[in-house]
Amino acid sequence: MEEEKRRQICSNCDRPKPICICHVIPSEPIATKTEILILHHPHESRHKLNTTPLLVKSLTNITTISGRRLRHHHISASLPKPSRTIYLFPPSPSSPAVTLSDFKSQNRTTSDPPPPVRLIVFDATWKHAKEMVKASEEVLREAGAVRVCLDAGIDESVSGGSIYDSELFLRMEPVGGCVSTAEAVARCLGALEVDGEEIERKLISVLKEMVRLQSEFLKPMRPRPKLLKKRLQNQQEEE
Ligand SMILES: [Zn+2]
Repeated sequence: MEEEKRRQICSNCDRPKPICICHVIPSEPIATKTEILILHHPHESRHKLNTTPLLVKSLTNITTISGRRLRHHHISASLPKPSRTIYLFPPSPSSPAVTLSDFKSQNRTTSDPPPPVRLIVFDATWKHAKEMVKASEEVLREAGAVRVCLDAGIDESVSGGSIYDSELFLRMEPVGGCVSTAEAVARCLGALEVDGEEIERKLISVLKEMVRLQSEFLKPMRPRPKLLKKRLQNQQEEE
């Protein structure tokens, strides 16, 4: 009986019933001036904990594309001038990046209100995301897309996880690294939108609830030896 319930899928959020997040998704999707384009690696879509569907349900101005590279037609729709196109990716020696806060101050001074931004996000593991950016270089260059990175240092040594591993969620095993694309988008909107703080806060609270439900759901199912050991250690330290 219990087992059956665990397997039922909510038709709205496509998640198992016990971890349905419909109650935390904003009843009115949030409208943004920023146009968000998520290029989703085909392998990533199969990941149960992917947060892109959650973003799609929470925002109005968002498109997701499954593919390994950005193509011309993905970004050919014209944006009102003088809008800018940015893509979120950490800097490398050959391709420096502007920090989100620097971009924000640049953009704010161009006009008032600041021109809308098209934000491209690569949703994949490190290895895949690097390949995707490389394969998309030409299209990005032609679009005049600026590489923007999150302000907090992103550590590439966290291999295998999402490229947007974050302080907020990384520690929350067993879902660490899986929710961070949505968090990265939340942080970008926080900086780019006029009422960004509120949008960021809303999205983060949805994410937090998702993480909370997810970790509760996974715990009794597959207690991993490493985690159990850690938990035991923590308990002993507390005693
Ligand atoms: Zn649901």
